[in-house]
Amino acid sequence: MKDYASYSFWLENADDLTPRPPLDGSISVDVAILGAGFTGLWTAYHLLQRDPSLKVAVLEAEIAGFGASGRNGGWCFAGFPYPPSELVEEYGRDAARAVSLAMYDSVDDVGRVCELEGIDAHYAKGGELEIARASHEMKIIEDMYNEFRLIGLEDHYRLLDKNQTDERMRVAGAVGSFWNKEGAAVQPARLARGLARAVERHGGTIYEQTRVTDYVPGPLPRLDTDRGNVSAKAIVLAGEAYLARLPKLRRRVIPITSHIVITEPLSADIWQQIGWEEREVVGGFGTKGGYLNHTADGRIAFGPYRGTYPFNSTITDALDRQEDVFEHGRKSALEWFPMLAGTRFTHSWGGVLGVPRDHMPIMQYDRRTGVAMGYGYTGDGVATTNLSGRVLADLITEADTDLTRLPMTRHTPVDWEPEPVRWAGYSLVRRGRYQASEEVERTGQQPDKPKLSQRLWGMYPPRAWRSLWKMGGRS
Ligand SMILES: Cc1cc2nc3c(=O)[nH]c(=O)nc-3n(C[C@H](O)[C@H](O)[C@H](O)COP(=O)(O)OP(=O)(O)OC[C@H]3O[C@@H](n4cnc5c(N)ncnc54)[C@H](O)[C@@H]3O)c2cc1C
Repeated sequence: MKDYASYSFWLENADDLTPRPPLDGSISVDVAILGAGFTGLWTAYHLLQRDPSLKVAVLEAEIAGFGASGRNGGWCFAGFPYPPSELVEEYGRDAARAVSLAMYDSVDDVGRVCELEGIDAHYAKGGELEIARASHEMKIIEDMYNEFRLIGLEDHYRLLDKNQTDERMRVAGAVGSFWNKEGAAVQPARLARGLARAVERHGGTIYEQTRVTDYVPGPLPRLDTDRGNVSAKAIVLAGEAYLARLPKLRRRVIPITSHIVITEPLSADIWQQIGWEEREVVGGFGTKGGYLNHTADGRIAFGPYRGTYPFNSTITDALDRQEDVFEHGRKSALEWFPMLAGTRFTHSWGGVLGVPRDHMPIMQYDRRTGVAMGYGYTGDGVATTNLSGRVLADLITEADTDLTRLPMTRHTPVDWEPEPVRWAGYSLVRRGRYQASEEVERTGQQPDKPKLSQRLWGMYPPRAWRSLWKMGGRS
């Protein structure tokens, strides 16, 4: 059996990871869910809230929280991978506002359910702080703020100058920041494991070490495994990056790696120098940028933005251990916080997140085939999976709510290109993007106009490469 605790600091510090019994023979239920990550578990949880009489089975290849949900940066925040301006362009201002409002509710719903179900996931709603560490980065945070002004939700955000930023936390070179009040820090594996227990308390069954090998759309939808099949009125595919392993969904989503390093608990003296008392989730841009978490036990987790795409979407454990990325993370953390010199980094790990071709998450249920799916959060999945769960629960129980009218429920998914175009395209865009970041950092200026390569990528339909480029050093 795998040593599940070795997959992240969070899993090592969650509960007993002994697997639950696997599926043992074919069964029939109301709803069968592939994957016990946040998407699958939130869907199960909210389905059982809406209708406690439902028979819900969750099939998990490893253990609950094994995937990205047990390994992420613990940013439970209202970030959504498709920015408001693009939602306005495609779906109108009301729809764009509705997405942000639903995301704010999701951040709060995570906290509410933790409280209600006694899940000790170290939830702390201190907001999200994106720090500009060079004057040319001020433009990035101003653009972020303007995105929300466009939809009249700027009250949830603030632009802070250097002094206001320093009052929250001291980061070397900080010149200003963007603050979003809709953000909370969590211990993600404790959240996933606690949620799994809550699902069971409400009557759901979780079968671990049970890999789904295929799914069969309706009229009698079914999940197939080597240990038996599960027929249901509705099946939910909640495997995010791992969905690319299913032959029918090979090109729907690509797995992108992300990695984290974490320090030992810091001394009171170091914390006094840094501040960061509200435990905001913190991010930054450029080649030394990353996503940071101030853990409840006084450590700093630093996730450098150095994602890679494995050829042919092949996910292996080897992807989790990229020493050059870990070293880059440790060096970047030291640059942010010079007072960490001499501090030990105790753990490092990685995982895969799912990126759809056009960066729009999908939360859909097809009543004709009985197949539901929630995936494609492009690194913004901790709160967005809660929204997926609420949306899918409403769709499956045929409730007509504001959630069932969100654009993600009707957006047409776009497939990635076949290999080797997929790999070549991704690698070229990423390399171009890093080079552009390095150049901006060298010259201290954003170029007046985009380079030819940027313009070409920008024109390439249907916008994935453009989005990838715009993501900048952010994954
Ligand atoms: C290192 C890292 C850092 C991140 N940081 C953040 C962050 O700070 N904030 C944020 O918002 N997002 C972050 N993300 C993204 C976020 O964690 C994910 O988007 C989210 O957890 C996805 O949840 P999920 O349940 O959809 O997928 P997963 O958590 O990946 O769960 C899928 C589950 O399905 C199981 N499974 C897969 N295939 C099968 C099969 N065939 N049969 C049965 N079971 C199967 C897997 O074992 C897994 O347990 C990060 C991701 C990574 C990897």
